[in-house]
Amino acid sequence: MAKVILPDGSKLEVAYGITVKQLAEQIGAGLAKAALAAKINGQLVDLSAPIKGDCSVQIVTARDEEGLEVMRHSCAHIMAEAICTIWPDAKLVYGPTVEDGFYYDIDLDEPIRPSDFEQIEQKMQEITKADVPFVRKEMTRAEALNKLAGDKYKIDNIEHADSDVISFYSHGGGFEDLCRGPHIPSTGKAGSFKIMSVAGAYWHGDPTQKMLQRVYGTCWPSRKELDDYLRRLEEAKRRDHRVLGKQLDLFSFNEAGPGFAFVHPKGMIIWNAIVDFWRSVHDKYGYDEIRTPIILNEALWHRSGHWENYKENMYFTKFDNTGYAIKPMNCPGGCLVYKTRQHSYREFPMRVAELGLVHRHEASGVMHGLFRVRQFTQDDAHIFCIPEQIESEIIGVIELTFEIYRAFGFEDFHIELSTKPVKHIGSDEIWETATNALKDALRHKGIEYKINEGDGAFYGPKIDFHIKDCLKRSWQLGTIQLDFSMPERFELVYTDKDNTEKTPVMIHRAVLGSFERFIGILIEHYGGNLPLWLSPEQARILPISEKSNDYAAVVQNKLKDAKLRCSCDFSNEKINAKIAKAHSEKLPYMLVTGPKEAQENTINVRISGIKENKSLEIEEFIKIAKRKIVDKELDLAF
Ligand SMILES: [Zn+2]
Ligand SMILES: [Zn+2]
Repeated sequence: MAKVILPDGSKLEVAYGITVKQLAEQIGAGLAKAALAAKINGQLVDLSAPIKGDCSVQIVTARDEEGLEVMRHSCAHIMAEAICTIWPDAKLVYGPTVEDGFYYDIDLDEPIRPSDFEQIEQKMQEITKADVPFVRKEMTRAEALNKLAGDKYKIDNIEHADSDVISFYSHGGGFEDLCRGPHIPSTGKAGSFKIMSVAGAYWHGDPTQKMLQRVYGTCWPSRKELDDYLRRLEEAKRRDHRVLGKQLDLFSFNEAGPGFAFVHPKGMIIWNAIVDFWRSVHDKYGYDEIRTPIILNEALWHRSGHWENYKENMYFTKFDNTGYAIKPMNCPGGCLVYKTRQHSYREFPMRVAELGLVHRHEASGVMHGLFRVRQFTQDDAHIFCIPEQIESEIIGVIELTFEIYRAFGFEDFHIELSTKPVKHIGSDEIWETATNALKDALRHKGIEYKINEGDGAFYGPKIDFHIKDCLKRSWQLGTIQLDFSMPERFELVYTDKDNTEKTPVMIHRAVLGSFERFIGILIEHYGGNLPLWLSPEQARILPISEKSNDYAAVVQNKLKDAKLRCSCDFSNEKINAKIAKAHSEKLPYMLVTGPKEAQENTINVRISGIKENKSLEIEEFIKIAKRKIVDKELDLAF
């Protein structure tokens, strides 16, 4: 009998050679039904895989990330069969999963058009309805090469395979594809799917190779989840920050500077509100602020290592017979400020922040509104400290980061820790100290995190902060990176307790990442209805007719005195037109003033997103609005 350990720690004895599917049945009929694959000693396998000895087993369902991946990838096979049935000349190249779905690269002279998607989906439905099993067949590399002779794509796949056992999977009427697996047990478990798009893609991403057709699909465990996903996509289109940015007159782009944003007056109000808040939080957490030049000579970039590692992304200029570069990062400038005087261990930790304007050259094809630009403002900071202070500094950065995210209404975040890569500098000892400090800080804060083994920068381990917006999209914003390289390159030193000169630890960190991108995320997260404290115009006074203009002006002056951002619509439009205009500009509060209000010294407040109007005294409204602004309240209702 083989001893099997389950994820909850319980142990089971089973006969040698039974499949994981049979094991799932022994555990429970419900689990067996939901099972898509399994992990034996951490390795993902088909449900048909046998249990050969003592091992740990986890049954994987569509509720597990890996299970969903297996389902989506299996769906790619089903789509491939459907396409090969419709176009027998189609040659299959490669079909991996991507976020929310999968694609398959196909070599076919005839173009696949969106109008063909329905037919492909219908064929896929037939295949899933038949609920035929995925069957694995193994052979040696030589046998596989022989079998696929003449198919350059699949032969290339075999040549890239890291195992000497090559596997094929078939399902249904003879359709077979080279694949290492695993897959769902049968086609009926493929969930709910939809073909999304088709695009050209070069084989191996190499423009000298043939252009293939990449067909994208999405796949979800249930019809409801598929529908929710499609709704989120529609909603994302409606919230596109490029469209809202134009509609709300926040920013623009011009061919005079591709990838360089022009921020308009209303956009600057949002920007400055973020800066003011950012500064106040950094002040509270003991940061100083500096500003360093954006153009610095080439020698500096050689010294920093950017020249060797980052040159393709940098802009250059020349004057006085000297080459200069426009900074892609703020760190070298920060190091030069550090070096302007001597330092003692007593002044550590030193936290130095900079809202630094950086330029990074991006290919024109990847630019996307404010999300991907060539010039942006990074909310950067460098912390210089001794190794014993790393953990408490990391804790401080985590607390500051969470405080900032929460103020913007982001509560759903997760953290990833990236550890030592193969190519790295610094001793194993310092890597271990630093990585443990990061882990201890996270544990100390009771924060769960995902480990990306070997994914750290060559100069140190890092923590990345990801937030989820209201459409469940994940955004990486903040980062904390330990750096063992730059302090050495710049010969940064401090005088330690024993009077010797030592190299300080340098921590790079950013919270929002890029101001431009963060504003784009905010616009989409809120669909343009920004929180009151960020709204370019917090209230607009709408006199019912010309007769109420004088009273409206009085109201406006009171609001202005109270430092509320407001305007008054003195136009000759009808009140309904004024309200509609204010709505389209996504105003939080609309203050309607007529003869009745003038007589009673009140205002009639329409609140964005709320049906009932509120009638109250001006001073009372000012008090409520100011409190909501100070508290950064998201709810406009009162
Ligand atoms: Zn496969
Ligand atoms: Zn830095």
